[in-house]
Amino acid sequence: IQLNQKNLHNLPDSFVVPKYDRSQLKAGIVHIGVGGFHRSHEACYNDDFLTLSQSTEWGICGMGLREADRKIGDILKQQDYLYTLIVKHPDGRQENRVIGSIVDFVLASDDPAAATDRLADAQTKIVSLTITEGGYHFNPATNAFDFDHPDVQHDLVNPHAPKMIFGFLTEALRKRRAKGLPAFTIQSCDNIQHNGDMTRKMLLAFAEKQDPTLAQWISSSVSFPNAMVDRITPMTTLQDITLLEEAGVQDLWPVTCEPFTQWIIEDHFSDGRPDWESVGAQFVGDVTPYELMKIRLLNAGHSVLGLLGSVHGHATIDGCIADPLFASYVRRFMDVEVTPILAPVDEINLDEYKSTLIERFGNPNIKDNLARICLESSSKLPKFIVPTIMENLEKGGSIKFAALVIAAWCYYSDKGVSKNGVALDIVDDMKAELHSYASKTEQDSLAFLKLDSVFGDLVQSKTFTDEYVAMVRTLYTNRDIAAQMDVLLGESLLLT
Ligand code: NAD
Repeated sequence: IQLNQKNLHNLPDSFVVPKYDRSQLKAGIVHIGVGGFHRSHEACYNDDFLTLSQSTEWGICGMGLREADRKIGDILKQQDYLYTLIVKHPDGRQENRVIGSIVDFVLASDDPAAATDRLADAQTKIVSLTITEGGYHFNPATNAFDFDHPDVQHDLVNPHAPKMIFGFLTEALRKRRAKGLPAFTIQSCDNIQHNGDMTRKMLLAFAEKQDPTLAQWISSSVSFPNAMVDRITPMTTLQDITLLEEAGVQDLWPVTCEPFTQWIIEDHFSDGRPDWESVGAQFVGDVTPYELMKIRLLNAGHSVLGLLGSVHGHATIDGCIADPLFASYVRRFMDVEVTPILAPVDEINLDEYKSTLIERFGNPNIKDNLARICLESSSKLPKFIVPTIMENLEKGGSIKFAALVIAAWCYYSDKGVSKNGVALDIVDDMKAELHSYASKTEQDSLAFLKLDSVFGDLVQSKTFTDEYVAMVRTLYTNRDIAAQMDVLLGESLLLT
């Protein structure tokens, strides 16, 4: 049976379906970038909210800016904008839940003026985004907006036919101001620290150059709440589609995710918002401590397992957690080296948060590949792990668990194989540079740490280098990372 509105009530009993009148729903939200994550996260919170409130104001109109979004738009349209969210539990259980909160889709590249009209419509109160980190046109080298991109150059001189996000937002806000309408809120849901501040900074840089008076209005009228978002959402596979078919439902693009979900949002909206707190979102004054908690525990935990696991020969995150040595090691790293330097986080019990993380990492139905986890480690470790080491050095805290991860990363970058000689799939913009520094380790044990664009002045700390040198020498001699993990764990447990 095909998934669509007509068939909604003939689906197998095991499918949960929307229990609100979709025909009455107006789209108070336009969401740009209808990828897997939007469909597992905001659209799912909104589906819960519509069920609970029976509101008719807060449906979602999906929008794609790129030709590549045509496929999702066509499929959604064919299915009356319905799709299945397959929630995969650690015990193998699978919930099939049809999400009904998306009610329309606009492919902006087909008709940019129609898209900006839609954004400028009085009905649109929130414009939310998942356009990936690259979509923000931020240049880390200059710490500023990247005006060199051809689409940006195009949009500066073609304000009425934009191609990229900030061209669309600027033109839509120009239309709104002309109509005397309030500004919409721009709600980023991308995995960027202070994602609202980043969106504001990039939009204002662009608008300032195109239309300075409008930029002033944007600066004083548009809200950009920062938010921390979390729900592991792997790419949909053919197997997921087949599984639904076997259950009797044809859905051309379902989404899979874990049961855990979190959305922590700063509460300032220009033109109203749904009561997402009634369905589990958390509104706070300042999202910073939540972001730090996530980066230093979840993201860092992923890198710890990813690098140690790759050198040892594990293939996936759940494979690491199934190995008691790795599960204990990552938990001990969190307890001994991260928790002491985290500020208390309101309404969050850190012990429970960490236990939940280990359980999430161990979900055998979410096969997170270590190659994907270690992707672009050169941009991850300086945010996820190096600041933790620096803070512990300042405060006299433990640095050993993290030091072994850096030693493993050196071996990984130098040799490119696991201890069993299996080639590792390394994807990193800095791969050649990492290899060049790491490969001098046998002559100079500190060579890798001299890559200062990644490690800053870590190499200057004798406390750190004394530990690191001993670790790297042992690893290069016996290639047995597990033995070193075991020793560190034993020592640390003796101390408690
Ligand atoms: P996806 O590949 O399924 O979707 C990406 C979407 O972004 C597509 O609609 C694409 O067209 C759009 N996009 C990409 N580049 C763009 C650009 N330059 N301008 C405009 N639109 C652009 O990916 P996803 O899993 O949905 O992840 C999207 C983002 O969500 C991530 O980059 C991350 O910031 C955030 N996120 C993802 C997860 C996860 O587990 N997948 C978890 C937390 C946060």
